[in-house]
Amino acid sequence: MIEYPETVREFRAWFPDDAACRGYLEQIRWPEGPHCPRCKQSEVWAMKPPFYRCPTCRHDFTVTAGTLFSDTRLPLSLWFEAMWYVVNQKHGASALGVQRILGVSYPTAWRWLHKLRRAMVRPGRDRLGGPVEVDEVYIGGEKPGKRGRGAAGKALVLVVAQADGPQIGRIRLLHIGSATKAVLSAAVQEIVEPKSQVLTDDWDGYGGLAELGYDRQVVRKGAVVGENLLPRANRIASLLKRWLLGTHQGAVAHSHLDYYLDEFVFRFNRRRSRSRGLLFCRLIEQALAIAPVRCPQLVGGAQPQGIVLGEQC
Ligand SMILES: [Zn+2]
Repeated sequence: MIEYPETVREFRAWFPDDAACRGYLEQIRWPEGPHCPRCKQSEVWAMKPPFYRCPTCRHDFTVTAGTLFSDTRLPLSLWFEAMWYVVNQKHGASALGVQRILGVSYPTAWRWLHKLRRAMVRPGRDRLGGPVEVDEVYIGGEKPGKRGRGAAGKALVLVVAQADGPQIGRIRLLHIGSATKAVLSAAVQEIVEPKSQVLTDDWDGYGGLAELGYDRQVVRKGAVVGENLLPRANRIASLLKRWLLGTHQGAVAHSHLDYYLDEFVFRFNRRRSRSRGLLFCRLIEQALAIAPVRCPQLVGGAQPQGIVLGEQC
């Protein structure tokens, strides 16, 4: 069990410089000591920090090689501060907030947040078990969207909320292209364990779920207006909208929506975690487990002005 700082005082005492940050990464990535990422040799030579050399294949490597932190020119301690700040913002961090707190440029803050969001999805996470409520919500735009056909300027998001007694258990969100049967069937298969009870309304798009082995229950057929029979999914949808409008002022490009959804899910599913330090530790674990993200990979939607593609960050 890895330890983590509980307070900002502890955080500062633990991570005064890059060497301390690197030591922490090594504890998390190599609990049994450093080993060669190429040939898995576990008896390696410590060279001039931060390097190690593999005596078998002569490969030189560092603890950040092949992770989210590789290729960074900025100090690791600044990354640590960014992560500490991000997990301690109850409603999520904006690029402006990171810029202000860390004194980095806006483009750097923006790129960091996008990189960190990629670390918010645990690789190989399991699917949700039932009962789950499934519904879709339109994000953005001004007019309500027409179901199944899409709506100009809007993004469609599938909301899956697990029932935990009367409460909400874990959730998942998925940006989907349309609400057709093919799309919804594939999305539910990706998110929900087979044979689970899946509560939906009577939309035809969910008609394929029984065939796929799900116990689909239509709970909102002919519901009285105002009667809300998918309360958990609806609650998540409204929290998500409020969060996108509040923390991000609604300024979320569709092509980047996936990352914002990942951040929302990361925060929501860990909302009961009393310790922000644990969240910090989880974020580092996941950042070490995913491949490096180079800036051109972040391209796709509207970039804030001043973002130079391919620039080191
Ligand atoms: Zn080797």
